[in-house]
Amino acid sequence: MTEHAVVIAGGGPTGLMLAGELALAGVDVAIVERRASQELAGSRAGGLHSRTIEVLDQRGIADRFLAEGQAVQVAAFAGTPLDISDFPTRHPYGLGLWQNHIERILAGWVHELRVPIHYGIEVTGFAQDDTGVDVELSDGQSLRGDYLVGCDGGRSLVRRAAGIEFPGWAPTTSSLIAEVELAEEPEWGIRRDALGIHSFGRLEYEIRDGEVVYMDWGPIRVMVTEQHVGPTTEPTLRDLSEALIAVWGTDYGVHSPTWISRFTDMARQAAAYRDGRVLLAGDAAHVHNPVGGQGLNTGVQDAVNLGWKLAQVVNQTSPESLLDTYHDERHPVAARVLRNTLAQVALFRQDDRTKALRDTISELLSMDEPHTRFAAMMSGLDIHYELGEGHPLLGRRMPDLDLITANGPLRVFTLLHDARPVLLNLVEPGGFDMAPWADRVQLVDAEFVGTWELPALGAVTAPAAVLIRPDGYVAWVGDPTELGLADALTTWFGPPSAA
Ligand SMILES: Cc1cc2nc3c(=O)[nH]c(=O)nc-3n(C[C@H](O)[C@H](O)[C@H](O)COP(=O)(O)OP(=O)(O)OC[C@H]3O[C@@H](n4cnc5c(N)ncnc54)[C@H](O)[C@@H]3O)c2cc1C
Repeated sequence: MTEHAVVIAGGGPTGLMLAGELALAGVDVAIVERRASQELAGSRAGGLHSRTIEVLDQRGIADRFLAEGQAVQVAAFAGTPLDISDFPTRHPYGLGLWQNHIERILAGWVHELRVPIHYGIEVTGFAQDDTGVDVELSDGQSLRGDYLVGCDGGRSLVRRAAGIEFPGWAPTTSSLIAEVELAEEPEWGIRRDALGIHSFGRLEYEIRDGEVVYMDWGPIRVMVTEQHVGPTTEPTLRDLSEALIAVWGTDYGVHSPTWISRFTDMARQAAAYRDGRVLLAGDAAHVHNPVGGQGLNTGVQDAVNLGWKLAQVVNQTSPESLLDTYHDERHPVAARVLRNTLAQVALFRQDDRTKALRDTISELLSMDEPHTRFAAMMSGLDIHYELGEGHPLLGRRMPDLDLITANGPLRVFTLLHDARPVLLNLVEPGGFDMAPWADRVQLVDAEFVGTWELPALGAVTAPAAVLIRPDGYVAWVGDPTELGLADALTTWFGPPSAA
């Protein structure tokens, strides 16, 4: 039986990101992916929000995505656009890029990091004991890992086999989404009626002057709300044809589908993100309607929260209890995503009263403060982990400042490329003895001239020093001579090593 420190079930965006994070920390990790290759039938997610672009920038790979996608204002709430172009981030925009490209680029990075991906094999079950997990595979073989992470999507086998509950809300509406060819020219664009929202568009598009302009060639992407909530079985061409006829009176001679899928407004979240040596991340831990484009983004950020923690536990620099902070920090983030998707789906109902409510919300969102707060939420820039009272930076994302160091100019995010924590000292050097953590934490003396500004919060007091976790969140803020720093270093990066 082959052994790895970590086995990841599922090589979608979450599993790939997690594998990269673990590999950067030197962990022996392998992915088991059911699909025969990274090829993805269907376009699924349409892009990345600002915080995800930042997270990729922290690893030095954002440019790979930016080079292939379209930077555009994508944040919106229930159809009201939320412009973030004046936000204090290097990436005050989202990125239009289909999921198949996102996965291809992530898989390329994972490949460079030499993570084995076993394609065409399914995880069929597992058994955990005190020292590890035996993972059963569909080819009759098995793998043993110290830990197993289920990144195996909304119908997660790992979640079900672990017996982790998945409470939430059953669907009230469903839509079919497909990539097809049509014999006749359809009514392009969005159509709204009593059933809901429907659309025809080309898959290929360009952004011109901030507007999506579809090409007049290539496959057609159709979305149609169904009359009744559809079954959980795979939808067929016949289902699609019937749904089209119910809305447009014709199916426009629909044929040659390359992908037909059904999505609903079901919203469910794993009651626990960890059961012993088994963890969940991404869609395996939370599912919801695609409105607002938050699923892939939340999964990738789950992976970045979990990766360094799991690496430290596997490498025995931190106790297993560090893994509990993964659930504590990420469960509330997805719970909020579920709540905002439930609200948006409700606001998208097409009756006159709901339309009046949607217009009212839209009017409120035109006011500065609500606009800024919702824009920060939808772009993921306002995420705040509860790390206690103190400076506003505590538990929030570290801004990508342009620093001045003895070796010249340096961006904060460059310091995070190899996913190691950083103590950034912005006052007189030499105030704190870092030697007991020097094997794990980089100490950087630097100067920053400028205002410290956070999305939605505005300007904050310049700190003397900040302890930055590998995921880019601030674990401690203060003066390096304060006692609290040693505690924070121990909490997050393990006890001091003996001299
Ligand atoms: C129509 C639509 C539009 C969307 N738009 C957006 C958007 O704009 N923005 C956004 O952020 N999100 C969007 N999403 C959501 C997004 O697609 C998902 O949230 C995202 O794919 C989740 O990634 P994941 O890696 O957690 O899970 P998945 O992408 O589902 O990946 C799970 C992987 O595990 C594999 N697998 C499953 N079971 C097993 C097993 N037993 N053994 C081995 N492998 C297994 C699967 O083959 C798959 O590759 C959209 C979704 C849909 C359907």
